[in-house]
Amino acid sequence: MSDNDLIQNLCGTWCSYYKPGKDEELACKGFIVVKQMMRNMVTIPFEKPDESDQARQLLSDSAARLASSLCPVCSFSAEDCDFADRLEGARPCGGFLLLMQFMEKKTVNIDDIRQLL
Ligand code: SF4
Repeated sequence: MSDNDLIQNLCGTWCSYYKPGKDEELACKGFIVVKQMMRNMVTIPFEKPDESDQARQLLSDSAARLASSLCPVCSFSAEDCDFADRLEGARPCGGFLLLMQFMEKKTVNIDDIRQLL
């Protein structure tokens, strides 16, 4: 899958911060890890859960583990990510949400993700 297809499938579908046409030189760590993961997985299931399932996942141990491993090494975390700043109601990026779903479905675990950071 090309970078452009990944941007459409991941950022365009999953990320509430994605703005088409914006400079995409700087990618968040969620995107970078998913891109790395594509080298090892035959197919990446991009289907989104419904809102209530995603809300439940955001309260899971998987989300907490991901937030403490992925976000601190993301170039957006220092100034540009409200989720990393723990602002109330802020959503994580699409890459975070997809990786969180993989963890909840036991497709990957946090050690698999840490190896790609
Ligand atoms: S939620 Fe924010 S800090 Fe965490 S990986 Fe995504 S953009 Fe980066």
